[in-house]
Amino acid sequence: MTSRSGRHFLQIPGPTNVPDQVLRAMSAPTIDHRGPDFAALTTELLASLKPVFGTAGDVVVFPGSGTGAWEAALVNTLSTGDRVLHVETGHFATLWQQMAAGLGLYVDFVPGDWRHGASPEAVAERLTADSARTIKAVCVVHNETSTGVTSRVSAIRQAMDTTGHPALLLVDTISSLGSIDYRHDEWGVDVTVAGSQKGLMLPPGLGFNAVSEKALAASRTARLRRSYWDWQPIIEANRCGFFPYTPATNLLYGLAEALRMLQAEGLPAVFARHDRHAEATRTAVRGWGLEVLCADEREYSSSLTAVLMPEDQDADKVRKIVLERFDMSLGAGLGKLAGRIFRIGHLGHFNDLTLAGTLAGVQMGLQLAGVRVDPRGLTDALDVLRAQ
Ligand code: PLP
Repeated sequence: MTSRSGRHFLQIPGPTNVPDQVLRAMSAPTIDHRGPDFAALTTELLASLKPVFGTAGDVVVFPGSGTGAWEAALVNTLSTGDRVLHVETGHFATLWQQMAAGLGLYVDFVPGDWRHGASPEAVAERLTADSARTIKAVCVVHNETSTGVTSRVSAIRQAMDTTGHPALLLVDTISSLGSIDYRHDEWGVDVTVAGSQKGLMLPPGLGFNAVSEKALAASRTARLRRSYWDWQPIIEANRCGFFPYTPATNLLYGLAEALRMLQAEGLPAVFARHDRHAEATRTAVRGWGLEVLCADEREYSSSLTAVLMPEDQDADKVRKIVLERFDMSLGAGLGKLAGRIFRIGHLGHFNDLTLAGTLAGVQMGLQLAGVRVDPRGLTDALDVLRAQ
């Protein structure tokens, strides 16, 4: 192992850099998870989580990864043989529908080109064609982490409403929650799926489901097998500040601190910061003469930017150089985008100079890899940062 000085730049689109105050909060001694101090912690936590999801309803917290929270959303609301509508926005949407099929659901997978978000029109078309109302849920990834494309959930809800179809709306916000504007209640989402390791600035290890009344009602009749992921015993135990099993106590300490930080900055300011950093990043990409993968400006992601490489260039070579020379991790192309793109994460605990350093590292990596780029990309991005 070579020794390195300074901090590693973790610029993948999650897990993200964990703030020192969150790390410190997590280093407190573990307490009795059946005692009064723990009950007070949970009660405060569950209340402060709600505004981040934009809900007044229940938020269920699991020790688990985002994949577990996907499963929880499906098994609590659906029954074997139900039809579900998924939209192919990229790698994560593909994995989620594979899980649904594996659980015994019939999946309608609306094809996509991995450069656009879920089309509200396509969703409406499929629901309109379903005159027998056999589709029980529409599943959408809000921010597709593999492509840097953000679907317009509010427009999808409106499109669903125009059809009068009763399907539930399940939304994955794993790489958007706490970074990109999101409103569970206002947008009529039934289950919002989230994870700890991105906008919430924590290490991996917690999964979340925000749950509407309609989803709770569905959970009473849903027949997919579930035990660990069952919402009901958790919601019941949470009413007194507890969990039906041993919770991830120290991650919850970290979560409490991260929520205080988001509250202190204010969510609108947090979203504006992410928007601005994303704009500066896209400015750099265009300035270099490269292409942003997202093809529709209404769907640009504010938490990450996927950069499309020229046909004859290997994105993984650039990432390897950037890691070895500058100690910075960038996101790889996933699935069919492997080697074709790299992804710059600009979410979570992040400021102007972190972005400036990140873009400088990317520019130098591209140059060292022999990619012809215009160095004005970086200075153009700095102009955006300086101007606002
Ligand atoms: N959905 C999205 C949009 C993701 O970005 C990820 C992980 O990066 C997942 C689901 C899976 O989450 P996890 O890796 O925590 O299981």
